[in-house]
Amino acid sequence: MAGECILCGKCLEVCPLLAATGREELGPRAKADLCALLAGDESLLASADVARLAGLCLGCGRCATVCSQGVDVPGLVAGLRAAHPDFKGWLWKTWLTHAKTLWPAGSAAARLVPESLRPDRFGPLLKMLAGLGAGPGLTPTLAPFLTPTSFPGTHRGERMLLFAGCTATLVRQQWLAAARSLLDGLGVDIQSGDFRCCGGGLKTAGFVDEARAMALHNIAVWRGAGRPKVVTFCVSCLSGLRGYDALFGDPAEAEVWRNSMTTLSILAKDTDFVISGAVPAQIAYHRPCHAHGADSDFLLLKAALGDRLVASTDRQCCGFGGVMSLGAPELADRVNARCWDQLAGAELVLTGCSACVARLAATAPQGVAVGHWLETVEIT
Ligand code: SF4
Ligand code: SF4
Repeated sequence: MAGECILCGKCLEVCPLLAATGREELGPRAKADLCALLAGDESLLASADVARLAGLCLGCGRCATVCSQGVDVPGLVAGLRAAHPDFKGWLWKTWLTHAKTLWPAGSAAARLVPESLRPDRFGPLLKMLAGLGAGPGLTPTLAPFLTPTSFPGTHRGERMLLFAGCTATLVRQQWLAAARSLLDGLGVDIQSGDFRCCGGGLKTAGFVDEARAMALHNIAVWRGAGRPKVVTFCVSCLSGLRGYDALFGDPAEAEVWRNSMTTLSILAKDTDFVISGAVPAQIAYHRPCHAHGADSDFLLLKAALGDRLVASTDRQCCGFGGVMSLGAPELADRVNARCWDQLAGAELVLTGCSACVARLAATAPQGVAVGHWLETVEIT
């Protein structure tokens, strides 16, 4: 796949790591070039150098979406990571594969550790865990302030599976409660499905076998339920689920899978909301890297909030970065700082990605609240 790169440079315009550092050797074209070089002769670079370079990618996928040649740079980087495993990767894998036990306890404990006392190696993880928190999310004086008053009947009685994702299931159950409340209002017949993690974070980090096992489990749940629509409310989960194509032997079934993916904000797009209570004057929206095309979360919020939604990011990444935030936290912080420059002045930042919520909540300036848009929805 690396050999298909024609060095056109189109991907350079969208890479948030390159934009934040100005270092072209960290950009997607250099990575594609490096992979082509290594495919020809593995011995050209020392293993440690390859591992270090492979660590320097946010896995945001922005480059792959603009590449006319179909070069999947994050996929190539994942291949390098798989071939050159290191401690950071192991730590990341442990965090994701033991989420059920590590996240709830870890997020509570992380909040108790003052930032100055967090050990360097675990600092970024602790920061994000603290940001995720198992608490109420947005401060009670700020949320919820969107009350649904009428629902469209488009999906009334339709049977669907809800893919809640790890964050909502393990540490932010209020997202799940708000999602269920909206789906109830829409009249959707929600079936419970014993889904596991989408596997997207593991796949990007190079843990292909673990990601594949999760994906096959999730596909089996979907098949067992009769292949209904699958509703998500995290765009990173949606991106992970959409990446299952290669696991289907039958292309027709792969297409049914792809078409079965939908988002809560698409289903709820014609819902009427009234604004009540104390609403921040300056609300901003962070567009996640994995929100491709029309961003249904933004469209729903814009329709509900109108001119109160004063700013939004477009090209800026939150700097979550997965395994990169462990190996090069200073670079991830530079990416994150550009994002906050764009969001300057907002009192509240909303988004539709669990990773972005974690990263932005962990880095928000004093007095700025960060949450998933579901936290603004009144549970009726
Ligand atoms: S990866 Fe794609 S967009 Fe980037 S330089 Fe190569 S061909 Fe162009
Ligand atoms: S995945 Fe993101 S950070 Fe990595 S090279 Fe592509 S655009 Fe840059």
